[in-house]
Amino acid sequence: MVVKVKAYAKINLMLDIVNRRNDGYHDLFMIMQSVGVYDTVTVTENKSKSISISCNIDSIPLDSRNIAYKAAEAFFAATKKKNKGINIDIVKRIPHAAGLAGGSADGAAVIIALNKIYKTNLSDDELCRIGVKIGADVPFCLTGGTLLAQGIGDVLNKVKPLRRCYIVLAKPDFDVNTGYAYKQFDTCGKTHTPDKLGMLCAMQSRDLDAICAKMENVFEQFIEVPNRINIKEVIKNNGAKGFCMSGSGPTVFGIFDDKEKAQKAAAELKDFAKDIVICTPVNKGCKIYE
Ligand code: ATP
Repeated sequence: MVVKVKAYAKINLMLDIVNRRNDGYHDLFMIMQSVGVYDTVTVTENKSKSISISCNIDSIPLDSRNIAYKAAEAFFAATKKKNKGINIDIVKRIPHAAGLAGGSADGAAVIIALNKIYKTNLSDDELCRIGVKIGADVPFCLTGGTLLAQGIGDVLNKVKPLRRCYIVLAKPDFDVNTGYAYKQFDTCGKTHTPDKLGMLCAMQSRDLDAICAKMENVFEQFIEVPNRINIKEVIKNNGAKGFCMSGSGPTVFGIFDDKEKAQKAAAELKDFAKDIVICTPVNKGCKIYE
């Protein structure tokens, strides 16, 4: 059997680290939105009794360091199904190490594909329990759309979907290590706490101006990203409603209500960013191709 899945990227409309827990994890408050840039993950059964990975990007590991590989292992461990053999092919379009959850999306896609191949019929909660063992963003990627994620990323609640808009993603030529970013929080702490209640009210009323005014990511307080100011300036000067960094960075995104403004900003961002994508919100984290 072959199962092909679209694995969508996400942005954080709000990201607050609430506190560091005794077990070393962090309690988070994240308003997350799936966006229309996706990796294509194809899981093909074979008789190798092992997991193999192929990918169109050279710098992505093809062994047990790959999040897709870890997801497959976690699926077999949780379901006690014997791995008869699979190949996972990943066509990456989501910029990686970008704060866009590209690896987590691939991991979620593998879990969804294996749930179909092995006819395990796992519920959303069961899928989420497998996903969270691999990474904080995997539970979100399994569901997607517009969600409030709390706890370590595993407590998900629906919020009203974002209105149609154009989102410009700009990733400078710089990678942020997520582990390092959390260590910076442990060392530096935060100086300002986002207005979480204000954001929830704005989401509830689907008021794009109010949402954009409340967008905030605490990682921006202690993670330096080259060109972030320039990127924000270009986005602002082209009439964006708002802008913010996603995840632990370095991607900065701008929200526009007008496609032409978004296209103009994207063209001007070429001096400051390596990867530039224009996308729109989507209502799923993963989608199996028909
Ligand atoms: P998040 O927003 O969840 O922190 P991210 O967008 O910052 O994710 P990823 O694209 O998930 O980062 O990649 C982080 C690191 O994980 C990269 O350095 C990459 O080498 C490694 N990695 C392992 N598997 C994958 C994968 N399937 N896709 C992308 N990166 C992967």
